[in-house]
Amino acid sequence: MFDNLSDKLDKALHVLKGHGSITEVNVAETLKEVRRALIDADVNFKIAKDFTNRVKEKALGQNVLTTLQPGQLMVKLVKDELTELMGGDASGVNLSGNPSVILMSGLQGSGKTTFSGKLANFLKTKKTKKPLLVACDVYRPAAIDQLHVVGDAIKVDVFSDRDNTDPVAIAQAGVAFAKANGHNVVIVDTAGRLAVDTEMMNEIANIHKAIQPQETLFVVDAMTGQDAVNTAKAFNDILNFDGVILTKLDGDTRGGAAISIKSVVDKPIKFIGTGEKMEAIDVFYPSRMADRILGMGDVVSLVERAQEQFDEEEARKLQKKIAKNQFGFDDFLKQIQQVKKMGNMKDLMGMIPGAGKMLKGVDIDDDAFKHIEAIIHSMTVEERTNPGVINSSRKKRIGKGSGTSVQQVNQLLKQFNQMSKMMKMMQGGGGRKMMQAMSR
Ligand code: GDP
Repeated sequence: MFDNLSDKLDKALHVLKGHGSITEVNVAETLKEVRRALIDADVNFKIAKDFTNRVKEKALGQNVLTTLQPGQLMVKLVKDELTELMGGDASGVNLSGNPSVILMSGLQGSGKTTFSGKLANFLKTKKTKKPLLVACDVYRPAAIDQLHVVGDAIKVDVFSDRDNTDPVAIAQAGVAFAKANGHNVVIVDTAGRLAVDTEMMNEIANIHKAIQPQETLFVVDAMTGQDAVNTAKAFNDILNFDGVILTKLDGDTRGGAAISIKSVVDKPIKFIGTGEKMEAIDVFYPSRMADRILGMGDVVSLVERAQEQFDEEEARKLQKKIAKNQFGFDDFLKQIQQVKKMGNMKDLMGMIPGAGKMLKGVDIDDDAFKHIEAIIHSMTVEERTNPGVINSSRKKRIGKGSGTSVQQVNQLLKQFNQMSKMMKMMQGGGGRKMMQAMSR
């Protein structure tokens, strides 16, 4: 996420970081670099200029030149200003009203349908709500199918009416259906066009008027940079929406939209989409995002994601197995699957402070576990539960079956053995034994 921008800001601020004392010239040059980095990331020129002017003012006001660690203070000032620019605090969605109605708007392909599903799933699991998805795209039958597929995957009901061509009537019927069937949140997915046009704007304005949503969200593809900001403005003029959803932040996004959108429409970014899976949704925290942009990682989000995915009951079962020496390849596979559910690997690594920089150019993709999974899948049940039986002929067979080499099979077996030993040590005798073993 925002690799290029992070890199350039890091370089710009690097000059100051090492200096015990700095000069006004240094500060001015650094800020010029910061401004250039922002503009390269597709931040509007005026926003970037105002940004660096404010940082400069604050720096002078706080006598940055005479403080003990001027470089650190400058980094902090840039971080605070970035946070402010992106919205200050995190803002949630308004769930008042029974049902609370949430209207989704945005261009076609921005990720509205995907996000509608993600939000329904999020509200269902986090806020124990009973959401209903409503399909209002009457122009593309495939869009209705898509919402049904999403609904089935997350086990959320979907309301649609293929015989009706009036999206306003469908939206109203959807809300009535929710009331009658005990759904306390209604998420209305609407049609989008490839570009802003009067007809689409009128249609969404009419739906908005008819169902009076508690929350109107504007979904935008972060990859579209300055265009994202312009589209946001057009939608906001008509709908006066409550918040922005930035999707596709997992891609090679330059970051401009995330940074500028708030100051252009004066509406907060509420969530971000970081992948195609239903779990790839994050609440947008401006300060955490600023940390990530400045390469400081985001450990809080990382821990939160881990907590979401790791089931306590499962963890307890696993502990028992380890204690009894019954940890097998099936358990190993389960662990891998849980880690994968936490999200895109590169994205996860980026949350570790400093890791982004270290891993620059290293290709980590979601296929990182592909070989391991293939090898395990080629094992028989016996081999998985009792890896000790895997002799050289079995290794050959497993290698062939999984499209890997015997060497790769050996490597996995070795890693598995080491891991099992470590786990056993952590269990019995606690960390002490392990420390002893490691210091030998
Ligand atoms: P809609 O036309 O606005 O309803 O857009 P869709 O929900 O159909 O999304 C368009 C495409 O973008 C689909 O292929 C989605 O899988 C993909 N997509 C949506 N959100 C994200 C995201 O956060 N990250 C990535 N990588 N792809 C996304």
